[in-house]
Amino acid sequence: MNTGKSKFSRIYVLIVAALLIGLMIYSADNFNQGKYKYSTFLKDLKAGKVTEITIRQNKEVPTGKLVVELGKKKTETVYVSDVNKVLEDIEQYNEKAEKRIEPAVMDVSRDSVFVTTILPALLMIIPILIIFFVMNAGAGGGGGAKMANFGKSRAKMVIEVKNMDFTKVAGLQEEKEELEEIVDFLKNPKKYIQLGARIPKGVLLEGPPGTGKTLLAKATAGEAGVPFFTISGSDFVEMFVGVGASRVRDLFMEAKRNSPCIIFIDEIDAVARRRGTGMGGGHDEREQTLNQLLVEMDGFGVNEGIIVMAATNRVDILDPAILRPGRFDRKVLVGRPDVKGRLEILEVHAKNKALGDDVKLEEIARITAGFTGADLENLLNEASILAARKNKQFLTQEEINEAMIKVGVGKEKRSKIISEKDKRITAYHEAGHAILFHVLPDVGPVHTVSVIPTGAGAAGYTMPLPEKDEMFMTKGKMLQEIMVSLGGRIAEELILDDVTTGASQDIKQATAAAKAMVTKYGFTENLGLINYNDESDDVFIGRDLAHSRGYGEETASAIDREVKSIVDGCYKQAKQIVEEHMEQLHACAKLLIEKEKIGQQEFEELFGTPVMPA
Ligand code: ADP
Ligand code: MG
Ligand code: ZN
Repeated sequence: MNTGKSKFSRIYVLIVAALLIGLMIYSADNFNQGKYKYSTFLKDLKAGKVTEITIRQNKEVPTGKLVVELGKKKTETVYVSDVNKVLEDIEQYNEKAEKRIEPAVMDVSRDSVFVTTILPALLMIIPILIIFFVMNAGAGGGGGAKMANFGKSRAKMVIEVKNMDFTKVAGLQEEKEELEEIVDFLKNPKKYIQLGARIPKGVLLEGPPGTGKTLLAKATAGEAGVPFFTISGSDFVEMFVGVGASRVRDLFMEAKRNSPCIIFIDEIDAVARRRGTGMGGGHDEREQTLNQLLVEMDGFGVNEGIIVMAATNRVDILDPAILRPGRFDRKVLVGRPDVKGRLEILEVHAKNKALGDDVKLEEIARITAGFTGADLENLLNEASILAARKNKQFLTQEEINEAMIKVGVGKEKRSKIISEKDKRITAYHEAGHAILFHVLPDVGPVHTVSVIPTGAGAAGYTMPLPEKDEMFMTKGKMLQEIMVSLGGRIAEELILDDVTTGASQDIKQATAAAKAMVTKYGFTENLGLINYNDESDDVFIGRDLAHSRGYGEETASAIDREVKSIVDGCYKQAKQIVEEHMEQLHACAKLLIEKEKIGQQEFEELFGTPVMPA
C-alpha cells in the first residue's frame, strides 16, 4: 500500500550513499597524502634530492600546497600552514647550497576556498538534511522525530476503527462468536485477570483471500473499542536489513504503551514462512523479522491486554514455531460463505446502492456458490458501474447478470459459478461419504458436510471430527475408511443416470489404502506377513517404472488381485449401507442444496436420535 513512498525512500538512500562515497573519495584525496611530511621534505632538501618545488599558495591566508619533485618521476605533496616559513627554509638551504632551487610560487584562485572548506561541509550537511526530510515525510508529523524512529517511517501503524463493528461483517457467525471472547477480554481485562484466566495471546485468521479476515480483525478492535495497530507482512519484504526487526520492536513498544489494544499482522506468511527454506536474497532479513516477532510475542505477559491477530491464506507454509502455545495458539478458520452468509454480505453492500425492485438478492446468493465476500462486493460494484455507464438511476437485474459474467468468467477465474446441476451432483456425492462416516462405527462422526468449493479445487467436502490420538490403525478401521472413500461414487451411481469424474481422488485414496494393507501391513492371508513395499513413499506410482521391486510377476499379480478384492468387498458393503439409508441420502442432499453447508447436529437429526458409538 505504500510502495510509492518506499521507492522514494530508496532513492534517498541511494543519494545519501552516493554523497557519502563522494565525501570519502574527496577526503581521501585531501588527507591521505599525510605520508609525506614536511620534515621529510626538509631532509630531502638537505640531501639534495629535491629537483623542483612548486608552491600553490592562497594569498589571503598564508597556507598552501607544496609540490615537491624528487628526481624525474617522483612527486610528493605536502600541505603547509605557513608558506612564508617554507620560503624561509628554502632560502636558508639556498644560502649553503651549490645549486639554488627557486620555488615557483603560484597563487591559487579564490574558489579553492570553496573546494577546500565549503564543499566538504556541504557534503556533510546534505545527507543529514535528507535523513531529516525522509523522517519527517514518513512519520506523519510527530515533531520530535529522532533517528530511532527511522524504521517506523513507512506505514501508518495505528488505524482508525471507531466506526467498525461486527455488524459490518456479514455472515461469519461462528467466526464472530469465537472472537467474542477476545472482545470481552479487551473491554474488561480486569475481570479475567482477577480470576487468573489465561487469555490467548495470538489469534490466527486463516482462509482464502477476500473472505473478510482483515475486515474481521478491524471489526474486533472496533467492537472492543481499542486501538488497532497494523502492519502487513508484505511491507517487510522489500525492507533493507534490520529495518523489519526494528519495526516489529517499535510496533510492540507502541502497542504496550496503548494497551489494551490489538496488533494485526496481515499476510503473515510473507514473514513467517518456514525458516531455512528461503530462496535467494532477502531471506536473512525475513528470518530476523520473524525472530523478532517471536521474541516480542514471548516477551509480553499473558494478560498485558495485547492481542496479536494475524491473517494468512497459506497456513501450510508457516513456520511451525509461530503456532506454538503462547504464540498464535488460537486458530479461526474463515471459510467461503454459504448461501445465508452470501445473502447477508450482499445486503451489507447493497445498503448504499440504488437497487431496482427486480433485483433479488436471494437469487444472487443462491447462484454464487464459491464466491467470497470480496467477490460479492465486486459483483455489486461492477453492476453499479455498468448501470452508471448506461445513465440509469438505479441498477437492475440486467446489470447484475452482465456483471456476473464479467466477475465470474473474469480474468483470474477465481470464483467459479456453479451450476444447479453440478451442485446437485456434489450434494449427493458428499451425502454418500457422510452417511458412511456416520453409520460405520470406527470412523466419523461427521463434523461438517459442504458443497462449497474449496480453494484446492474440490467441489465440496465432508469433514469428520478430528481423530482421537490412537496408536494403531486397525484393519477394520482401514476397511471402513476405504468404504467411506467409495461412498461418493456409490451415491452418484444410485441417484444419477451417469457417474462423474469427481470421484477420482476418492478412488486413488481407496486404492492406496488397500495396497498398503496388502504390501505393508500383512492384512491378507494369501500374501502373508511379508513386506512387499519398498518404502519409497510414492511406491504406487514409481514401482513399475523403477523395476526395483523385490518380487516376481506372479506375486505382483497376486497383489493386484488382493487389492482388487479388498476394494470390491468394501464397495459391496458400502453400497448396501447407502441403499439402506436412501431416505437420509435424499434428505441430506436436499439440505445441502438448500444450505450448502451443514453441521454435525443438523446432519445427525436426519437419522432421528443420534447414534452413540460405544
Ligand atoms: P481478506 O483479508 O480475507 O483477504 P478482506 O477483509 O480484505 O479479505 O475483504 C475484502 C473486502 O471484501 C472487504 O473490504 C469487504 O468489502 C468485502 N467482504 C469480505 N468479507 C465480507 C463480509 N463477511 N462481510 C462484508 N464484506 C465482506
Ligand atoms: Mg486481507
Ligand atoms: Zn468424494
